Amino acid sequence: MRIKTIVAIDGPAGAGKSTIAKLLAKRIGADYIDTGAMYRAVALQLIRTGTDYNDPGALQAMLDAMDVDFSEGHTLLNGEDVSGLIRTPEISAVASPSSGVPAIRYKLTALQQAMGKRKSIVMDGRDIGTVVFPDADFKFYLTASADERARRRTEEMRAKGEEADLETIRADIIQRDYQDSHREFRPLRKADDAVEIDSTNMSIDSVVDTMMAFIEARDR
Ligand code: C5P
Repeated sequence: MRIKTIVAIDGPAGAGKSTIAKLLAKRIGADYIDTGAMYRAVALQLIRTGTDYNDPGALQAMLDAMDVDFSEGHTLLNGEDVSGLIRTPEISAVASPSSGVPAIRYKLTALQQAMGKRKSIVMDGRDIGTVVFPDADFKFYLTASADERARRRTEEMRAKGEEADLETIRADIIQRDYQDSHREFRPLRKADDAVEIDSTNMSIDSVVDTMMAFIEARDR
């Protein structure tokens, strides 16, 4: 491994980015940073404080008074562990539209870039290879068909004992894909130099192995 390595993994909702990024981070001895959790924490704070993200003054005041960080895999909002609270459909429904607001993206991009200065990281999101770390050592763009992503998400939720309806989840995934890739400011886009991996018919381990092969080949 190089001394400090930055791996960027982008892709649409439910492509398995976080599972894969976590495993890859472990394999290369890096920290895993889930930027989706940061946009979710902002959504939670918007709801909690009743802030309208279309009101620039109110939004900036809220952003100036908030910090998002990670500790041992937990998401901290002003020091409070909000990991459980941000994984709800209500938060997803606010995170996706609010993440298109420039002031929110400027704030989180700066925090993410600061995290990359400290140590090796594997960071997943929508704009990591294009905006946050355009010079990342490795860039991957992870996709899977919408049907497969919905099937995986449904299984994952049912395994946790949560109620999950395949059709509702599929519709939510398609809607978020559309919102994330069509927003005006910094939309979800594959970086020109990213390696695209379609995981529709691949196991988690084979995706991680494929990424490792790229990393080892270049580090040799
Ligand atoms: O990855 P996750 O589904 O948790 O992300 C929640 C939402 O945050 C996404 O739908 C997307 O709108 C937004 N997001 C983003 N840029 C990132 C990460 C997430 O816009 N780097």
